[in-house]
Amino acid sequence: MRIAKSILCQTNFDVGPIVTNLNLIAGEWLAGESEIENRNPSDLSDLIGHFAQANADQLEATLDQARIAQAEWAAYGLERKQAVLMNIGTELMARAEELGTLLSREEGKPLAEGKGEVYRAGQFFTYYAAECLRQIGENADSVRPDIEIDVRREAVGVVAVISPWNFPTATASWKIAPALCYGNAVVWKPANITPASAVALTEIINRQDIPKGLFSLVMGSGRSIGQRLVESPKVNAISFTGSVPVGKGIAAAAIQNLTKVQMEMGSKNALAVMDDADLDLAVSLALGGAFGGTGQKCTASSRLVVHAAVHDAFVEKLVAGTQAMKVGHALAEGTQMGPVVSEQQLAENLAYVDLGKSEGAELACGGQRLEMPQDGYYMSPGVFLNTTNDMRINREEMFAPLTSVIKVGSYDEALATVNDTNFGLTSGIVTQSLARATHFRRNARTGVVTVNLPTAGTDYHVPFGGRGDSSYGPREQGKAAAEFYTTVKTAYISAGKPM
Ligand code: NDP
Repeated sequence: MRIAKSILCQTNFDVGPIVTNLNLIAGEWLAGESEIENRNPSDLSDLIGHFAQANADQLEATLDQARIAQAEWAAYGLERKQAVLMNIGTELMARAEELGTLLSREEGKPLAEGKGEVYRAGQFFTYYAAECLRQIGENADSVRPDIEIDVRREAVGVVAVISPWNFPTATASWKIAPALCYGNAVVWKPANITPASAVALTEIINRQDIPKGLFSLVMGSGRSIGQRLVESPKVNAISFTGSVPVGKGIAAAAIQNLTKVQMEMGSKNALAVMDDADLDLAVSLALGGAFGGTGQKCTASSRLVVHAAVHDAFVEKLVAGTQAMKVGHALAEGTQMGPVVSEQQLAENLAYVDLGKSEGAELACGGQRLEMPQDGYYMSPGVFLNTTNDMRINREEMFAPLTSVIKVGSYDEALATVNDTNFGLTSGIVTQSLARATHFRRNARTGVVTVNLPTAGTDYHVPFGGRGDSSYGPREQGKAAAEFYTTVKTAYISAGKPM
């Protein structure tokens, strides 16, 4: 792991020197009021490092410096800003193997997914590097004579980025890259479960040609430093991804200061499998969508809405495919599903298994804690059968390698079931009927809809976001991100008559 600056200390957990990773406060790498340890969920004997926890004074100092740095950064030439973003993106892509290994080690997703995530994070930066040169406004004639109007976007100011652990590098990058592209300063509070990836990305960003304090890293718990950050009147905009309850709390705090807010939260995504579906394709989409990232994706296929005519055949293949999945150490060759991220998440998952059974669902396979050669948070992927859409396992985001099959009698019932949720991030249909695919695409009440593709897995150059409890505020990614990271200025110009 390459860390810009660190201090060495002895701990109770390891005989050797342990690196304490620091926060980036007002342009300086600093220790905090305390530190936490970060362990590998695939192997709890593997201590990744210690991570500083920022204190309130450091937060104030870094917010003050961010304000100064933002004005300087916004005045940089376009190509200078573009070069900064391009360098960050290029380095992330070049180091995808190394940083993906670190990511998988601390988060638990299989190595291929970890490397893919870091590479994708790089693509967000190179995409927004290009966007630096594509910030073109509008002009118009005034309704009054001899007056012209110029409409352009300007930076919002200081942006707080609060990111989750399930995509520690990619989610942060799809917020940080557009924030910088449009001229903002960033104060980043990453999830405390995955701080190593955050330090690695910060180290890359801080090495660039940027004003001192333009980018800050404030590791610490959400309840302490996160809450202070979202309550601060020095923050102009907050971009958050995480759970619905925390999102609602952040929105409530933000409104006190009329701070702009954008939130991506949970979901209960459904994949509809029609009677004319290619069943092998449907099963492979369901397996990838339900168990990729150990089911810890806001886009996971946690409800499988299956037409009665193919239900039994689909279920047979689905259960066989689920039982065949290789669960193992994230960095081990051949692992298809890694551990759950934390002890708490594992306990919640197992509680959902019990809940599903108590609600009358049949657990066809999986849903058990697994003993492995290394001590980690392993469980087997699980499939619930004979479920109804009103069960809590079909209404609450579980964020677990668990999926439910809901049998329906028609396309219309499938669509109604897909839409019967408080959430609305993604949905998908597997069908060979153009008519059904088209109708579904137009009538599914989700921000993202897929046809013969998984509910998880999106591009970086187009908008991403949902409806209902899944999202709040402007869309992320692609050109749509400009809506959140900028504010519009309308200028009226009376040039007068040439002399
Ligand atoms: P949280 O919503 O608690 O955490 C997301 C981020 O918000 C983390 O950086 C967290 O910090 C921070 N945070 C927590 N509380 C506050 C606060 N009061 N003010 C500011 N920031 C705060 O998610 P969890 O990690 O606890 O996961 C719980 C559940 O949330 C999951 O089981 C899943 O259902 C859902 N979730 C959804 C995600 C998505 O992609 N939509 C991503 C992650 C979780 P810290 O972690 O340091 O406390």
